[in-house]
This record gives sequence, structure tokens and C-alpha cells, in this order.
Amino acid sequence: MKINENFLKLESSYLFSTVAKKQKEYQEKHPDKEVIRLSIGDVTKPLVPAVISAMHKAVDEMADESTFRGYPPEHGYDFILNAIQKNDYANLGIDIKTDEIFLSDGAKSDCGNIGDIFSVDNKVAICDPVYPVYLDTNVMNGRTDIIYLPCTAENGFMPQIPKDEIPDVIYLCFPNNPTGVTVSRKQLKEWVDFALKNNSLILYDAAYKAFIVDDSPKSIYEIDGAKKCAIEFCSFSKTAGFTGVRCGYTVVPKELVFNGQSLNPFWARRQATKFNGVSYITQRAAEAVYSEDGKKQTEDVIKYYQRNAKVIYDTLTNEGFKCFGAVNSPYVWMQTPNGMSSWEFFDDLLDNCQVVGTPGSGFGKSGEGYLRLTAFGNYEKTVEAVERIKSVYGKDK
Ligand SMILES: *Cc1c(COP(=O)(O)O)cnc(C)c1O
Repeated sequence: MKINENFLKLESSYLFSTVAKKQKEYQEKHPDKEVIRLSIGDVTKPLVPAVISAMHKAVDEMADESTFRGYPPEHGYDFILNAIQKNDYANLGIDIKTDEIFLSDGAKSDCGNIGDIFSVDNKVAICDPVYPVYLDTNVMNGRTDIIYLPCTAENGFMPQIPKDEIPDVIYLCFPNNPTGVTVSRKQLKEWVDFALKNNSLILYDAAYKAFIVDDSPKSIYEIDGAKKCAIEFCSFSKTAGFTGVRCGYTVVPKELVFNGQSLNPFWARRQATKFNGVSYITQRAAEAVYSEDGKKQTEDVIKYYQRNAKVIYDTLTNEGFKCFGAVNSPYVWMQTPNGMSSWEFFDDLLDNCQVVGTPGSGFGKSGEGYLRLTAFGNYEKTVEAVERIKSVYGKDK
């Protein structure tokens, strides 16, 4: 038996475990101090009432032989596919058919599994800093021809179209994790045009689209031609607090044709073979996100997180820190003061303020010199955390 040696090429990801370990060690040494975590990329507010009552109702149906459901359809029940099509596409003027939408247990799985349908020989472009799933799943599959697209303050954290190499596959994520910035229609059109011209495939992660408050595109299919060059990943995790419930969906348009083959049946076959569908209870929960009450209630939760993002951004910016993101995103990407490295500032902040962030360098080389702060916490605690930062590193210090 021979192992998959590609796993040996993975860089060990110590980021979140090291963050947790350092926090724990600090807390053990200083049990009287209250540590505030602005490091988590996870929601904290409970599921909204509309979702909870839909789940209760679905549980009752599962308890009765006449309404019990077994295996769900592989790609999702019609009721949820119709709700997604209507609310997330038709309402934006986008023509996506329900058999181009594939319901799943979340965007992470789909972003990772999508590599099953294309060759290991492809050249892949990935942003730096980045959500680690894109890189690691390519390495696991043996795809090592990677072009890194640095996203830095100089380019406004926008990946630049490569000039001398042409990637076959391009991962884009907007609004971005970790930098919090999002793409304009014009910038996204440049990527779509580039992909169409070069026969490249864009993998577009729109997990944070619910946080968009301005005119930025919520879907790559708002751009003409994108149905011929892009797959889109969406998730109920950040939209509706489903990180523990697990539900997302992926759009693979039929017009997406490479080497004379439409990718839609490839993905349909991949999912039907390796995935057995999302639980009925979860699908009813996801459907409830689109109900009138569900929409209003989830919007309120997002507004709560947006208020956190604003207080972090405004307070720190007023104190002279360089911060990015926060507007269309639950993340604030903060430049470290005095040229400290990401980890130096992380340690300093923990020691002096008892505040935990996520070191930017953990998301890639170009993240060095930054810290990611999240808006997914409690408002009062978030205010206290930024006040502590202000009192130690502020203008008057
Ligand atoms: C949180 C997140 C997701 C969502 O993952 P799920 O598996 O749906 O919970 C996808 N992409 C990015 C960049 C994320 O930060």
C-alpha cells in the first residue's frame, strides 16, 4: 500500500491551533484577566426564529410515517432549489436554472471537492493572503503549478491579472476572507474577460455576499459572460448562522464548456457518486431563510455584526491605525503598528490588552504585518476590546 505523498507537501497549518494555544496559556497564567476574542471566523448569534420553527416542523414530519423522508434528492429538493433560484438569482436579473444549482453541506466541501472535475495538470492561480482551503486541496490532488497573486495595500488588496503566465483555474473570493475588501463590477469584468479570452475557469467564492451593503456584485453572474467561465460557491453559514447546521450551494452553469464538455453533468455525477444529499431538516431550515420573516430576521443579525465591524474600523482608524475591509464584510484587516510582525503584534496585544486577533501571516506571505479582527462577537465586548487597544496603542500613547 502506497500513501498519497501529496499530503507530505502540505504546509502544516498551525494558525488557529497556535492562536488557541497561546490564548489558553495566557489565561492559565492570568486567570483574573478577561480575554476578548476577535479572532474567530465563526458566528455567535443563534439561528433566527423562522429557521428554528421550520426545523421543529421538519423534525415532527420525520417523526410521522406519513411524512417521513429518507434519502433526499442528490442535488436538493425542488423547494429549496426554487427558493435559491428566485431569491439569489432571478431577483438580481440573473437567469440560472434549478438544475444548475447543487445543494451541499457547505461551501468548504464544494471549494475543496471541485478539483475532482479538472485535471491535475492545470496551472492554478490563488490569492495571497487566502482562505487556506483552495491551496491545500490543490496540493492534496497533486496540483503544484500554483501562481500566487499578492494582495497588498499597494494594489488595494485586489489580485492583479497575471501578465506573463496564464492560469487555467483562478480562485477568487469576494467579499474577501481575510482582507474584508470586495471587488467592483469593473474589476470583476476584467477577470471574466480574461478568463473568457484564455479559456480559464474562475472559481468564485461568494460566502460573504450577504454582507454587501453597496453596489458591489453579489454574484459573479451579474457580469456578462460569467456563465461561460465561472462556478460560484455560496453558503448559509455566514448569511444565516448555519456554520453548525451545514448548508451551502454551488452553481455550475450548463454553458460552462471546456474541451467540448459541459462541466454541469461532471459536477452532477461527482456529487451523485460521492455525496448523498443534505438532510431534509436542514433543507427546510435553509428554505426558511428566504421566507419573509426569515429574511428580516437574518438581515437584523447581519446588521448586528456590521455594527461591530464599524465600531472596530472607526475606532481604530480614528486612532491612526491603517485598517481595511469592514464595509462589505465582517472582517477588519488591520496593519500592525510600528512595523511589528503579525505574530509580534498578536503577542503584544494579548499581553497588553487581552485581545486576540488572527495573525495575517497565517493566511499567506503577503498577510505579514496585518492582523484580522472579526465582527462576529458580542457588541459590548467588541467595544471594550477596541477601547483597550485605543488605551494602549492610541494616538495619545
Ligand atoms: C466561512 C467560509 C466559507 C463557508 O464555509 P462553509 O463550509 O459553508 O461553512 C467559504 N469560504 C470562505 C472564504 C469562508 O470564510
